[in-house]
Amino acid sequence: MVEVLVAGGGPAGAVAALVLARRGVRVLLADAGLDPGVPGTITVGPGALAAFSAVGLASEVTAVMRPLAGLDLRRGPRRISLAGPGEMGLVAARTLGEGLRQAAARAGAQVREGVHVGDPLLDGAVVRGATLTDGTRRVRLPAAVTIAADGRGSMLARSLGLLHHPRVMRRRAVVARFAGMVDPPAGKELHLLREGWAAVTPLPDGEVLLHVVGSAGREGEAPLHAMRRLVASDPHLAARLVVAEVVGGPWAVGPVEAMAPRPGGPGVLLAGDAAGCVETLGGHGLHVAVCGGALAARVALAVLERPELAGHLELARRRHAAFGAELRMARAVRLMAGRPAGQRVLVALAGHVPAVGRAVLGGFAARASGCTVADRPASPRQGRVQEPS
Ligand SMILES: Cc1cc2nc3c(=O)[nH]c(=O)nc-3n(C[C@H](O)[C@H](O)[C@H](O)COP(=O)(O)OP(=O)(O)OC[C@H]3O[C@@H](n4cnc5c(N)ncnc54)[C@H](O)[C@@H]3O)c2cc1C
Repeated sequence: MVEVLVAGGGPAGAVAALVLARRGVRVLLADAGLDPGVPGTITVGPGALAAFSAVGLASEVTAVMRPLAGLDLRRGPRRISLAGPGEMGLVAARTLGEGLRQAAARAGAQVREGVHVGDPLLDGAVVRGATLTDGTRRVRLPAAVTIAADGRGSMLARSLGLLHHPRVMRRRAVVARFAGMVDPPAGKELHLLREGWAAVTPLPDGEVLLHVVGSAGREGEAPLHAMRRLVASDPHLAARLVVAEVVGGPWAVGPVEAMAPRPGGPGVLLAGDAAGCVETLGGHGLHVAVCGGALAARVALAVLERPELAGHLELARRRHAAFGAELRMARAVRLMAGRPAGQRVLVALAGHVPAVGRAVLGGFAARASGCTVADRPASPRQGRVQEPS
């Protein structure tokens, strides 16, 4: 029996497993190796960079990251610089995931790739592990604590009734790679649109990644049509894209948000997108995933030491302390971004009030109560023997 089973080896799960392994916990990280279903390039914002640094992974991330020249917030012709060169960067999601899983393995976690975590093992209402399938074999894996970090579609969280997606898709994201954009940016641009927002990210060879989030429109609308409909409300941006050609995608994701009212239940803790994802302008996903993984690991440690502890309630408290205020701010920013009057206020504020600029940017700092936990290699707990990885 392992002490902790971590389902999903994305940023949240890999960080959780790494933090636990450093503390001498017998932890198994199982990753299905699913196709991310998105373009594969993601922005590492200042908050995410701080979070990786807090768990001692800054060098692993910067080694595979291409620095960005900065970030501008734009509304029509208005432009506000929110970040300068090198404050954020781009990584290939797959490379990042592989690097983080390798770091977890080096720390002593057992890492199993191509393994799908299925149904939870239940003892009454308490989760005591889960079933694992590798395509040929199905095994029951008992664990004292299970961390569900299997992403926005988390099977574990959904089967336990902990994660919900809205029934009606009101907003969706469409991402595509373009070549031939007029005046391609050197840094990232965030454009406020009438019914959403668009991010333009520079890629090598003059290509750009266009990521548009907005109202879902009528049922059955083709993703590229939806993208063009949303962008059309900004004539400046639309004009720069008019002769550009799609060279990758489109990838459509929706509904954008998923809600987890509680980050777990008896015996199970949620981390990363499995603990809910909110649509924020600047992309807080990675930051919340890394901090959420570290927090879940810290709570799992506490549960191993005090089995009577209600870990999911403790995790809710710590998540609230770690990023409740920032996520509320990010939501407020997104609401402002949805209305012309709010957009004017947002643009005026972002240039002058650092908290608003950070909320747009996804740049809130890693806090002592959040990421900076169990983050340094420490002597294993007494009496715990590591299994070979
Ligand atoms: C279009 C789009 C663009 C984005 N861009 C950004 C961005 O620029 N910056 C940013 O910070 N955030 C961005 N995000 C959000 C960010 O990608 C996520 O918040 C982050 O990846 C969450 O990490 P995670 O570890 O929780 O989940 P994931 O990264 O989704 O990882 C989940 C892992 O679990 C595995 N898995 C799934 N099911 C199972 C199973 N049953 N058993 C075992 N393993 C399983 C998968 O193989 C995967 O490795 C974006 C999201 C989308 C949709």
